[in-house]
Amino acid sequence: MTDRHFFVICTWFWGGWGFWGFLLLGTGRAEESRFVFEKAEMGLPFRIALYAQGPSQAKAAADAAFARIEELNAVFSDYDPDSELSRLSRSSGQGRAVPLGADLWRVLEQAQLLAEKTEGAFDVTVGPLVNLWRRVRRKRELPGAALLEEMRARVGYKSLRLDPVTRSAELAAPEMRLDAGAIAKGYAVDEALAVLDRLGVHRALVGGSGDMAASDPPPGQEGWRIEVPAIDAPGAPPPQVVLLARRAIATSGDHFQHVEIDGVRYSHIVDPRTGMGLVGQSVVTVVARNCATADSLATAVSVLGPQKGVALVEGTPGAAVRWVGLRGRDMESASSRLWPEIAGPAGDR
Ligand code: AMP
Ligand code: MG
Repeated sequence: MTDRHFFVICTWFWGGWGFWGFLLLGTGRAEESRFVFEKAEMGLPFRIALYAQGPSQAKAAADAAFARIEELNAVFSDYDPDSELSRLSRSSGQGRAVPLGADLWRVLEQAQLLAEKTEGAFDVTVGPLVNLWRRVRRKRELPGAALLEEMRARVGYKSLRLDPVTRSAELAAPEMRLDAGAIAKGYAVDEALAVLDRLGVHRALVGGSGDMAASDPPPGQEGWRIEVPAIDAPGAPPPQVVLLARRAIATSGDHFQHVEIDGVRYSHIVDPRTGMGLVGQSVVTVVARNCATADSLATAVSVLGPQKGVALVEGTPGAAVRWVGLRGRDMESASSRLWPEIAGPAGDR
């Protein structure tokens, strides 16, 4: 073997390893396997599917993501009297502003923007009415007019005053109660995905019941396959499959939480403007750039209905919606122009 041959072989050998080393270190994605973890958080089953180089990396990342969700539950839970949200609610009507932690600030700021856009159809101060309708579901008895009025008087996004300079909030009416149930779960999903990303896990899907967010797709695929649930009624369109990548998806519907009284079905989602649980069954699915947005929009569209709801989503960059519902006995559906191509960045225009 001549010196020249030796040089060529060495270049090939080291060059080859340099190339594979780049793939291993540079993208961190060589020979990744799929791992799935499940845990109950926020009173719901949370699921994380991810690709990692081995079980120890996968478990460490999933544990950290679940820990972040648990941390957020301590901020947003409306069942826990010691959560930051519950403590803030107890300050209502006292004429004082309460400084907020970073997570609560971000979620309330986003919630208030949507409340303004929807003129109060989406409203995180809806707590007193949500509690009222929880009692209605338990007792199967509609609320009297006086009680409904009393609870309605405690609700109103304009009485939640945020101060961006001090990052504090004041609840200006007495007996207010915040309920972040329509946005905090989505935010927790986003935060869990961000934790995975920071720990080097870039192909992941995080889901808390109907709310999911994905980073990069599984190797060789365009996206994570998500089955969008169909409405639970005769004549419903079949479930749709959406391929999700670097996007979030959320579904709102009353499948599990509703009550039927005198032949009318009332949802757990409340119209803050009337105080009533929504009637007319619907399932709303929103795809958006993050899960806090998808989650909150899905609830907002449920309240607004198909016409105003689709317009709201079409005005939100990177978002798309499908609405399926019953009007009387008729099944109707509506979707935004970009549904469902927008499920990945390729469809984002
Ligand atoms: P989701 O399942 O995401 O649609 O959220 C439903 C939850 O949001 C309910 O269980 C309530 O806690 C809360 N909620 C109900 N009605 C509203 C509303 N109009 N605006 C904001 N949150 C609501
Ligand atoms: Mg929601």
